Parts: sequence; C-alpha cells; structure tokens
Amino acid sequence: MTNVAFLGLGAIGRPMAARLAAASHISLAVWNRTSARAASFASESGARHAHTPADAARGAEVLITCFPVSADVESLLDGPDGLLAGIASGALLVDCTSGDPATSRRIAARLAERGVGFLDAPVSGGTVGAEQGTLTVMVGGDAALLERARPVIAAFGKKIVHCGDVGAGDALKAVNNALLAVHVWSTAEGLAALAKAGVKADVALDVINASSGRSNASMSLFPERVLTRAFPRTFRLALLDKDVGIAAGVAREQKVPAPLLQLTADLFRIAHNALGEEADHVEAVKLVEQWAGQTIS
Ligand code: NDP
Repeated sequence: MTNVAFLGLGAIGRPMAARLAAASHISLAVWNRTSARAASFASESGARHAHTPADAARGAEVLITCFPVSADVESLLDGPDGLLAGIASGALLVDCTSGDPATSRRIAARLAERGVGFLDAPVSGGTVGAEQGTLTVMVGGDAALLERARPVIAAFGKKIVHCGDVGAGDALKAVNNALLAVHVWSTAEGLAALAKAGVKADVALDVINASSGRSNASMSLFPERVLTRAFPRTFRLALLDKDVGIAAGVAREQKVPAPLLQLTADLFRIAHNALGEEADHVEAVKLVEQWAGQTIS
C-alpha cells in the first residue's frame, strides 16, 4: 500500500481523488479548504478526512495538490498547520494545479531544502476524463521521481508524459489551453458570422468537422454545449483566463513574439470580467454572440 494525500477537492480534484480512493494499492487521506466537502468525500469513499494540510501530509509518501493557481499551493506550505509541518523527508509532492513555471520552481526549491521531491503535473481531459481515469498528465521535474509516482498518477492518468525540468509541465499545459481558447473564440466568431450569412450552425459544424478547420471545440464543445445551450459548468472561465495569461507570459519570458496569444489572453480577461468567477469557459462564446448581435444556432 502507498500512503497518498490529496488536497483540493474541486471540480477536477474530486473525481481524481475518487479514482485514488478506489485503487486497491492506495491508502488515501484528503484535505479541502471547505471542510464539509472533504467530510462528505471521506464518508462516501472511505478516505481519511484530514483537518489541516499538515495532518494530510503526516505519513504520506506521495502528496497530490490541485488548486486554482500555484500561489495557492505556495500559501499552504508554511505555518503550524502547513504542509511543511507534516511532510516527511523522502516524500514527494505532485502538483496537478495548472500552475506557472516560476512559482513551481520556487516551491520545488523550498521542498528540496527538506529532502522532499516535487513534480509539476497538470492534467488535461476535463472532469469526464478524471472520472474515467483517462487524463493526460504532463510532468516537469526529475524523471526518476516520476517513475516513483507513476503507479499513483496512473489511478487517474492514462497518458503520462515527462516533459522536462520543473515548470515544463506547467508551460506545456498553459500553451495547450491557450490553443483551446483560440479555438473556442475563433470558432464562435466564424459560426456567428455564418449564422448571420444564413448558414445554420449545425450545417456549418457538420462540414467543418469533416474538413481542415475542425478542433475539439468544433467537434465536442460547440455541438454538446453551445448548440444545445446547455453550457454545463465543468471548467471555470476564470481558470482558462489564468492559463492563457501564463502561456503569453512563457512566450514573453522566452522573447518569442506571440501577438495572437496576447490578444487571446486579453479577450479571455475581458470575458472573465464580464461573465464572472463562476461562468464556464465555453460561456465566453456568449460574449462573441453579444458583440455579433447573433446567437449561434
Ligand atoms: P475549482 O475552482 O473547482 O476548485 C478549486 C479547489 O481549490 C477547491 O477545492 C477549493 O476549495 C480549493 N481552493 C481554492 N483556493 C484555495 C486556497 N487559496 N487555499 C486552499 N484551497 C483553495 O477548480 P478545478 O478543480 O476546476 O481546477 C483545479 C486546477 O485544475 C486548476 O488549476 C485548473 O486550471 C485545473 N484544471 C481543471 C480542469 C477542469 O475541467 N475543471 C481541467 C484541467 C485542469 P473550496 O472547496 O474551499 O472552494
């Protein structure tokens, strides 16, 4: 048995933790800021309910964190209830937050002082992928540490890829999500224009999805969420705004001109400000529709 702690039972964290709780080779402890969520998860899954990050860390060989931003992970390290108060030398922290490379490098350095390993390991595949255990996991850090963590990560991840040093997973995840954002926004602009020109969205998507302009947005998100007007809340627009901003920052840091990434970051910041903290990422389409004076249908 491997003793694992999972911290951050949000939209994607909760189903990831459920996969770990169901794995026969794992003994799980969970912590969540809103304690009631951890209590209900623990009573449903049989996991131990830890009342502080330090309590979760005690006895854990592998700790997994999944918070909105890297700064949330960093803020849980210190203090009498913080992770560092409970974590043992030789343990390993796998951060599944879609984080930023600079903060991940700082966290890795703090943990290294205590003999604790660190991997940035953001995931892709959405809440459904988490439920099914088919997430893609992109990992930055020491490859030998990844091999140690792999049997644990495999409980929720199907494609687990070592990408480079600490921060490489974060950078790749941010660029992936920037591409998602570009596809959502550009598909919305195109379909709104086509609808105004008299081409129905289902006809347009039928053609695009058999042609070279297709993407996950055109193949899944628009048919399932926009045309149905369902707009389920699975991945917050605020988080995609954060991701595109990180991608634009990576390009800036590397002195790569990236006007499209920066424009997309600005558009998603505008959408986030207009639609609020709880809106789903696909709801950005509603802003395009508003600007166009045209519903995509
Ligand atoms: P949510 O907003 O649903 O959940 C966030 C979790 O973090 C909650 O458990 C929340 O606790 C906790 N939290 C927030 N702020 C703090 C803080 N300052 N201190 C301690 N705990 C905090 O986010 P998601 O689960 O959707 O996303 C988590 C990460 O995974 C993000 O980086 C996101 O970009 C990434 N991701 C999400 C995907 C998705 O489909 N949802 C897909 C791929 C990646 P509380 O319950 O108290 O609010």
